[in-house]
Amino acid sequence: MKDINVISISGGKDSTALWLHAIERDTPNLKVVFADVGNEHPETYKYVDYLEKELGPITRVRADFSKQIERKREYVNTRWREEGISETIIQNALEILKPTGIPYLDLCMWKGRFPASQSQFCTKELKVIPIFDQIYMSIFDAGDKVISWQGIRAQESRRRAKMSEIEETPEGYTIYRPLLNWDVYDVFKQHDKFGIEPNPLYKLGMGRVGCMPCINSRKEELFEIQRRFPEEVERIIEWERIVSMASKRGSATFFTSDDRGHGMEEIVEWSKTALGGKQYDLLKLTEELPACSSMYGLCE
Ligand code: SF4
Repeated sequence: MKDINVISISGGKDSTALWLHAIERDTPNLKVVFADVGNEHPETYKYVDYLEKELGPITRVRADFSKQIERKREYVNTRWREEGISETIIQNALEILKPTGIPYLDLCMWKGRFPASQSQFCTKELKVIPIFDQIYMSIFDAGDKVISWQGIRAQESRRRAKMSEIEETPEGYTIYRPLLNWDVYDVFKQHDKFGIEPNPLYKLGMGRVGCMPCINSRKEELFEIQRRFPEEVERIIEWERIVSMASKRGSATFFTSDDRGHGMEEIVEWSKTALGGKQYDLLKLTEELPACSSMYGLCE
């Protein structure tokens, strides 16, 4: 029985540093995986290709929700009618409930809502389950053991600070978190040591890289997204229209998953404000677009 060391990379700084750390330690039987959720910025896809060219092969996995969407169509046709849902909502749902092949969007159509910080089903459905099904299962079938490397750092949150370096899971694999005591500067230093560029999105004001946007994006990141990547905002507004049609309430918003109208457009306007959202931040709005807005001092 061999230990297979699996590293899931997102195109972000921590998982890249983790991979570099594994290489530095001459870790045998490395398997690097990228779960493509379909909500990443094009720069992140390019960055994953760059890492593959520089460091070695990456296996790409994608979740597929076509069966769940098919089952939901049947459910809409039967149970929603029995529940007295309006015919307009039922017809809208039946019209839109067809898989697009974009995992994030298909997941949200199936659920009839977007994930939220209190209900963060995206990570599990789009990353954990597909990696388990498409990667871990074949390792188990070959009689080998999975060591799942995670680039989690204690400094990131109180919840993460309580995690241990090694954890055995009920599913039969081991989690290993060697970066627990690293800070963010250790992470960028690790890139420098190997001559690997960090994802260029960090220089463009992003604090985290993964989804564009992530449901946990902060106000400053949203401000940068709307001024640098308006096409990503337009995409999410279109996704809100599509997921609303697949929702029993006829409404779904990216950030709040409620029906009070805090849609992407409204949240983007809020990102331009100061004073607790009371007025526009004219200083920010009139500023010339800087070539670099890194919150990690990457441009110095
Ligand atoms: S990056 Fe954010 S939105 Fe994307 S899967 Fe992770 S938690 Fe969900």
